[in-house]
Amino acid sequence: MKVTVMGLGLMGTALAEALLRNGHETTVWNRSPAKAAPLVGKGAAQARTPAEAVAASDLVIVCLSVYANVQDVLDEAAGALAGRTVANLTNGTPRQARAMAERVAGHGADYLDGGIMAVPPMIGNPGALVLYSGSRRAFDAHRGTLEALAGARFLGGDAGLAPLYDLALLSAMYGMFGGYYHAMALVGTEKVTAEEFTPMVADWLTAMLAGLPGAARHIDGGDHATEVSSIANNAAGFPNLVDAARDQGIGTTLLEPIGELIDRAYAEGHGADALTRLVELIQNPRPE
Ligand code: NDP
Repeated sequence: MKVTVMGLGLMGTALAEALLRNGHETTVWNRSPAKAAPLVGKGAAQARTPAEAVAASDLVIVCLSVYANVQDVLDEAAGALAGRTVANLTNGTPRQARAMAERVAGHGADYLDGGIMAVPPMIGNPGALVLYSGSRRAFDAHRGTLEALAGARFLGGDAGLAPLYDLALLSAMYGMFGGYYHAMALVGTEKVTAEEFTPMVADWLTAMLAGLPGAARHIDGGDHATEVSSIANNAAGFPNLVDAARDQGIGTTLLEPIGELIDRAYAEGHGADALTRLVELIQNPRPE
């Protein structure tokens, strides 16, 4: 298959390399042309302009920093877009993806939005996943090629779905990493090393993850009754986390918003519920 990759940053380069390894006829384009040299050495063709890059292949994979760059680059290539598929793997929001889908369709091309759930070294290797949404026809036509990059999962015809899932997964990841960084800062005040403490964190988080399917049932069913750990218990205990951080002289920035949500749930009469009740509070923020 002929495939174009536009954007040869860390991720775009990994995507192009995976396509070349799988024997695809790959054309590459990058704003700074020098980044294409190693790929050309591995058999890629280098396009001089965005229009030339788009014209080279039926499938055009775009992976730039932000959507504004994608818009500029595709506008430059607008005349060449008709009849092709644009798979935009740039990280963005559902609103941006829907607008891009409309814009690309306006130029007569099919549009797939993609959320890459991997870091560059994972591309082309087991464990990497890309979430897609948008044109089902384009996904079905190019699935085999896209699978050279990572496992490919189609979420639906609304282009906004891939970024929605992507950002939700990243939200869960950042929450977990934020908690981990705070934990390291806390034990570090007593000279406990990260290397020493991290295995205990990993075991603890793994044990806690076992509770997620039960949490999902609470959230979907709207029934937050618990015999295990109530908001009242947590409202009583959580201030210890904040107080200990202050006593040890470290920041509380990551903890306070969680404490505020627990306090709000308690104040609104949800003391007997499980923490899963917080999902509804997040969905209904207090007016600023
Ligand atoms: P890099 O910063 O390494 O590369 C950015 C790319 O965007 C380069 O090709 C750069 O071109 C191009 N670019 C920036 N501004 C413009 C512009 N104004 N016009 C044209 N091209 C421009 O980022 P990554 O490759 O890491 O990330 C690319 C996308 O992939 C991002 O949306 C990122 O969120 C997503 N992603 C990245 C992951 C990662 O771990 N790296 C993981 C999952 C998703 P130039 O070389 O000329 O500067």
